[in-house]
Order: sequence, then C-alpha cells, then structure tokens
Amino acid sequence: MSTRSVFRHERWTLEPDREPDAEATTYAMECAVCEASSEAGEDFADPQSWVLEHSGRNPSHHSYREIITRPWRTWRHAARVRWGFDVGDVVWDEGVRRRGVVTVRNGGSVRLTGDSAQEWVAGAESVATYPTDLDPDCPAGAVAVLVGPREVQLDDRVRVQGRVYEVREIQPMIGTCRILSLLGHGDWTMTRPRIVYRLHTQLATS
Ligand SMILES: [Zn+2]
Repeated sequence: MSTRSVFRHERWTLEPDREPDAEATTYAMECAVCEASSEAGEDFADPQSWVLEHSGRNPSHHSYREIITRPWRTWRHAARVRWGFDVGDVVWDEGVRRRGVVTVRNGGSVRLTGDSAQEWVAGAESVATYPTDLDPDCPAGAVAVLVGPREVQLDDRVRVQGRVYEVREIQPMIGTCRILSLLGHGDWTMTRPRIVYRLHTQLATS
C-alpha cells in the first residue's frame, strides 16, 4: 500500500515504514466509557489483559477502542536533471526497493550515502530514475546502469575523464576494486560504483 502525489513538480511517496530501523508498531486499548487506557506496547496480549481487568473492576464498562500506532515514512523521488544524477538527488531502485542519496558526482561516477550503500549498489541492475534517453553519451542500443566494480562486464562502456571506452578485459584487485583494460585508453582502476552503458544484447544474456 502506498500513495503517490505530485507537489511543485516533485514526486513524493507515502507508505508504511518497514525498514529495519523503523519505530515499532504499538497497541493500546482505551475504555470508551471513562477514557482510561492501557499502556502502549508491542505485544497485543497486554492491552487485552488490561481490558478484561478493567471490565472486572468496572462491570458497566463494555465499550473499548483499539489504538494502533504505526510508523509511516515519506520519500522524494529523484529530480530529473539534464543527464545523470546530481548531488543531493535521491535515487531509488524499484527492484530492490532501496534508496540512496548522491553525495558526489564527477563525470559519470556517483557515490551514495547510507549504511547499506554497497549492498544497495550491488543489487541495482537498473536505476529507475536514471534518464538514459537524455544522456548524450549513451550509445545506440545501450542503456545506462549503475554498477559497482564487481558487477562490471566485458563490452560495457565506461566513462573516464569525459570519454567513453569499451571494456575489453577485467582483472581482480585488492578488495572490491577491478582493473579494466579499456579499448583506446589502457588499464584503468574502477574503485566505486559508476554509471556504465550496457548493450541490450548484454542485458539479455546477463
Ligand atoms: Zn472504563
């Protein structure tokens, strides 16, 4: 369940907060006759016990209200820029349902915040908000995808210092980095997630 609205050309979504760090959902019961209420707790059994005790002490009090406190959250969709992401943009991947905030943009590279940024990037085969059709460097027959060094593939196109090169060879390195042999450029070390251009034929086989 979620609700989407447009305000001042920004899209916002409202939905129940099911993230691991969300506040707990709590339950309480309130007497509709005298307004007395139980403590709020995560276990619904406690408010139920309170109701039975309250009725026992006040035999004419038969009506109660259930009070559920449930956390919700809102998030702003990425604003579209002329190409790529901009610093401060919120990006969202529909596939893994995670969001990140772009903190650095330099050429085609982006860096994302968040304690699970690496995981988020690793799962992000496509970024729903990336405007591939507006990116002048995206070759015909390719789409832009955000990948970490471990996800880069042969034949991907990578932007380095303003130019786009084809990946001909991939060698592992310490940690998650990869040394890419780029046609017309030579060896280049990929150290962080980047927008790469991947051919439709590659997407079908990967
Ligand atoms: Zn009462």
